[in-house]
This record gives sequence, C-alpha cells and structure tokens, in this order.
Amino acid sequence: MIQLKSPREIEIMARGGAILAETVRLLEQSVRAGMSTTDLDLIADEFIRGHEGALPAFKGLYRFPASICTSINQEIVHGIPSRKRVLAEGDIVSIDIGVKLDGYYTDSATTVAVGKVDAESERLLEVTRASLAAGIAAATPENHVGDIGAAVQAVVEEAGFSVVRDLVGHGIGVGFHEEPQVPNYGKPKRGVRLTPGLTIAIEPMVNIGGPETRTMPDRWTVVTVDGTRSAHFEHTIAITDQGPRVLTALASEPVGAAGR
Ligand code: MG
Ligand code: MG
Repeated sequence: MIQLKSPREIEIMARGGAILAETVRLLEQSVRAGMSTTDLDLIADEFIRGHEGALPAFKGLYRFPASICTSINQEIVHGIPSRKRVLAEGDIVSIDIGVKLDGYYTDSATTVAVGKVDAESERLLEVTRASLAAGIAAATPENHVGDIGAAVQAVVEEAGFSVVRDLVGHGIGVGFHEEPQVPNYGKPKRGVRLTPGLTIAIEPMVNIGGPETRTMPDRWTVVTVDGTRSAHFEHTIAITDQGPRVLTALASEPVGAAGR
C-alpha cells in the first residue's frame, strides 16, 4: 500500500533530510587516502546524533551493524564499514546514509573520489550523478514511476554504462522501505502514478561493465560480477503539485539539483 504524506509530514522529512544533507557533505569533505571506512562511520554517527531527536537509521535496520554503508570500487552497495578497509588514492567510495527524525526516515547516497582517480571512474561519477538529476526531473505529477526509470536508464546507457536491476529505489517515510519500488530502468507512462504527497528515494546504481550483481559471503556487500567499478547517488524527494522537491539537498542548492 502506498502511504501519501501530508504537508506536515513532508516538513518533518525535510528537517531530517537537511541533517542528512549536512552529514553527506561532511563525509564528502572528510574522505581521504589512509582513513578507514570505520572512520567515516564514526564521523557520521556522531554528527547525526548531535542533532536532537535524530538517529542514524541504518544501525540495526535489518540487523545492519553500522550507521552508514561504505562500498569501495567494484562494491555496489551495502558494504560494511571496517577498520581493515583503508581508502587508497584512486579508489571511489560510495557512502549511503539514512536518518530517522521524529518517526520519519530520509535516505541519501553519494560516491566520492579518493584523491585523483582514473578518467573512466571520473566519468562514471559524472554520469551517475547526471542520471539521478534526470530521474528527479522526471518525478512530476504528470508522470509515472516508469518515467523516472526511463530517464535514468537513458542517461546511463547513452554513456555506455549499465544500470543495476537487482536493486531499486523505494517509497520512504514512516517505513524505511515503503511501496512503490522505483527501478532505475523502465518505460514512460508505466507503473504507479506520481501523486503529490508521494515520497520516494531515487537511487541509480551504475556499473562501468555489465549489470550483474553478486552478494559477498558477509551477506551484505553487493559487488559487480565482472569486477568493474560501480557508483551510487541517491536523494529522497517528495512529489508536489509544483514538481519534485528534493528533501535531502543542502539549502544552498537550487531546487531540483541532484548530487553534489
Ligand atoms: Mg540509501
Ligand atoms: Mg534507498
């Protein structure tokens, strides 16, 4: 069942989303070679808990052991922070974070270059960020869920990369994962209608090579089967009469801006 949110509920999500946006920015600025992914986890955990009523949503969610997911290079999503995973110059690291504030969830992800990365990785980050922007732009009340996926897919495939299909975006709010599913592929005018009050996480996961995924023996980390690198960007948005409202963007960003 799809749970539409009232304007009051969307304002609560916007407050949580603002804390989340600051957390994402802080981590983007903190990433550097030589630090472990646990270092990033601790920074995020402390910063989120420093805001009254705010909690890192991932800790304990489906028994996940940390406050953020950190996924390096060929890891797509759901990597577990570890003191043994030390970032190296040339890596890319995807950081996925959720915040719960006053009973409502928001969800956002970014992928960060560690120092200087190769040209293909740089292009992967640009294309994935652009595909999220295209997906958000398609999230208007005239459209359906399929329009979001079609917009993301077009940007990714035009660049010669592939969209992960095994994992999808989702409704979000009172529950972390609500209906509907929001795939990063699809056909225009198909699927659930984008009604004002619908709140969803749009989150393209894009691989340099093929779309196939595999889950590691830790039962969390999802990687590319062919070993190519993968990027992940995500925003939580609300569908409004005026179009998409990004709830996890910094206040200084223009409305509809995606990625950073
Ligand atoms: Mg996420
Ligand atoms: Mg999500």
